[in-house]
Amino acid sequence: MPFKTKTIIEPFRIKTVEPIRFTTREQRAAALRESHYNLFLIKAEDVLIDLLTDSGTGAMSAAQWGGMMQGDESYAGARSFFRFESSVRDVTGYKHIIPTHQGRAAERILFGTACRAGQIVPNNTHFDTTRANLEVLGVQALDLRCAEAAQPDLVAPFKGNIDLVALERCLEENAGRVPFAMITVTNNSGGGQPVSLANIRAASELCQRHGVPLILDCCRFAENAWFIKQREKGQAHRTPAEIAREMFGYAAGCTMSAKKDGLVNIGGFLALNDDALAARCRNNLILTEGFPTYGGLAGYDLEALAIGIKEVLDEDYLNYRIRSVEYLGEKLTAAGVPIVRPTGGHAVYIDARGMLPHIPQSEYPAWALSCALYLEGGVRSVEIGSVMFGRQPDGTEKPAPMELVRLAFPRRVYTQSHVDYLAEILLYVNSMKQRIRGVKLVEAPDQLRHFTVKVAPAHGSLLVD
Ligand SMILES: *Cc1c(COP(=O)(O)O)cnc(C)c1O
Repeated sequence: MPFKTKTIIEPFRIKTVEPIRFTTREQRAAALRESHYNLFLIKAEDVLIDLLTDSGTGAMSAAQWGGMMQGDESYAGARSFFRFESSVRDVTGYKHIIPTHQGRAAERILFGTACRAGQIVPNNTHFDTTRANLEVLGVQALDLRCAEAAQPDLVAPFKGNIDLVALERCLEENAGRVPFAMITVTNNSGGGQPVSLANIRAASELCQRHGVPLILDCCRFAENAWFIKQREKGQAHRTPAEIAREMFGYAAGCTMSAKKDGLVNIGGFLALNDDALAARCRNNLILTEGFPTYGGLAGYDLEALAIGIKEVLDEDYLNYRIRSVEYLGEKLTAAGVPIVRPTGGHAVYIDARGMLPHIPQSEYPAWALSCALYLEGGVRSVEIGSVMFGRQPDGTEKPAPMELVRLAFPRRVYTQSHVDYLAEILLYVNSMKQRIRGVKLVEAPDQLRHFTVKVAPAHGSLLVD
């Protein structure tokens, strides 16, 4: 047997570097005040380690940059479109591949074409833009998380699964009112947790029995396929590409933000098998995104995406990526920091309610924690809790099921020493957590409020001196 190292190294060497800027604690305190304690409003150059999102923040490969030089910028019928189409079709198996500038455009076009007010769309957990794009049409976005998902510290292999009993009930009780069901892989808002092949297959069968199409929100399809390979019985010998193809095969189409597992900085697509629906979506696309062979993207973007969506299925890449996230999770768990377990594909989620029981949910503990992480270490994270999800469509306030701080890992950007630094900061903040205090909302828009909300410390300052 050849010697096997314990260390999983980054499966790339660095060809281009981008400096990151160190700031003082005083500078960060000022930046927080000036940005109304909203990390979305902070200047990126004031951030040292940026874990706000894994969306569009990845590093492209030399092959992708090379591909960009081959971009065909013809308005219609560009060569780059056909490369993109054939690559995406190869990965997904779907007939109609419609480019969009990002995931939410695919959502808006599909929902705007296929949904009517008064309908209902079930999903394992709707992502924020998915929910908002349905609700703006008067469609109810129903989350059907499996029971395990509600227990942050319960270690289970597929906590992203949809609740099949609830799905069946939803389909029975709302016959004629469900235009399609959705499954989000991996389950982003539910902790980046994977969905099993068995769960997708069973959901697909239920949907078929009720004549309802199933649509995958497939932003992290490759990470999901990797988890299936690692954790699902009988899957270990298959390639991530084979597993992904089977996942896609259970659905009638997908919406994709290629800023995730497309390994590009901008891009997305809608893919469908249904000819008539695809034709209507293309017409809808022309209204706001552009001609159906570019969909709001440059020819060079399509080239980068055609290459990225294949690279993401590389096993060494997926092993390094999932392991980096798990490595941070292990360090936090060892130090007693409560996190969603097991760690998901693209992020570590800190359970802020568990970590800061002294802050009531009405004072947004996860938001307060994300501000503290920035103040102490220049780390930017994102709240996934009651600021993001607390406002109901009727204007009332209801606490979110969990108060999480998400540390999302950009793809191929940070190395193990960055992760070690992160762990040190997190452990330090954990050691002084009694000093962190709650926050209040000062000014908030009605929809997707976390992006622009103005926040302030609820008790004068973020930390007790
Ligand atoms: C990012 C994301 C979207 C929206 O995609 P954008 O490219 O940001 O518009 C939709 N669903 C999920 C699960 C996502 O992670």
